[in-house]
Amino acid sequence: MSRIVYVNGEYLPEGDAKVSIFDRGFLFADGVYEVTSVLDSKLIDFDGHAVRLERSLNELGMNHPIPKDDLLEVHRELMRRNDLTEGMIYLQITRGADADRDFVYPSEDTPNTIVLFTQAKNLKDSPMVAKGMKVISIEDQRWGRRDIKTVQLLYPSMGKMMAKAANADDAWMVEDGAITEGTSNNAYIVKGNRIITRHLGNEILHGITRAAVLRFAKSAQMEVEERAFTLDEAKAADEAFITSASTFVMPVVEMDGQPIGTGKPGSVALRLREIYLDESLKAAV
Ligand code: PMP
Repeated sequence: MSRIVYVNGEYLPEGDAKVSIFDRGFLFADGVYEVTSVLDSKLIDFDGHAVRLERSLNELGMNHPIPKDDLLEVHRELMRRNDLTEGMIYLQITRGADADRDFVYPSEDTPNTIVLFTQAKNLKDSPMVAKGMKVISIEDQRWGRRDIKTVQLLYPSMGKMMAKAANADDAWMVEDGAITEGTSNNAYIVKGNRIITRHLGNEILHGITRAAVLRFAKSAQMEVEERAFTLDEAKAADEAFITSASTFVMPVVEMDGQPIGTGKPGSVALRLREIYLDESLKAAV
């Protein structure tokens, strides 16, 4: 079945959607994106994603081409047209297409390119929850503004390939001995009854799921410590997990071929997953 996608104000069959070869997203990775998950035909934390999108656009000096209410309507229309009940909606905004290739930004009246499309996927009942993820550690070789959600995803893509070659599910990235984050998720360990995850800064993406999970953990009287943690600490942890919009909270059971804790999904991760799903569904739009 061909999807209906959204490109610059139009809903089109995916095969008819076109973007210029001079688009700066294509030539310079000059664009930002968001991924919002859909459960029971509703958007999870749409507001959080819209706010982060605005911040990414601001940080890159890009125009805000579409008001939040209109963006919500495009998400809903795409869900309706594609009968999407569970999965993700991908949104990308680039600085648009100049008349030629030029490092210098085009004038501000150059229209942005806006693309949205749906991805149907079984998110809630992922088989990974019962198994837990295997991760490897790799050097973090990304640029220095990881807090901006840009479409420069080549290194994360290389990281996923390194994980695949090692028969693992993902990679956690290490900088100066400390874990920054997963290739497409935030990273956590649990030691004693303490949940430890890296503090916010330019070194990691400020996950929307991270913010919600930490809020729920604190309301459930769990202890949270936001600080850098080392690879050795991760290997010696009682349990580990990741968060992202499409995986929610997912247990991690192995690091570099060694089991973490019991080598089974941990109780803190599983409890947080349950709380996250309950609370987010209640607030979904
Ligand atoms: N870190 C990175 C590098 C990511 O790519 C993502 C997901 N896009 C996240 C963290 C998780 O962010 P969110 O919870 O907003 O999906």
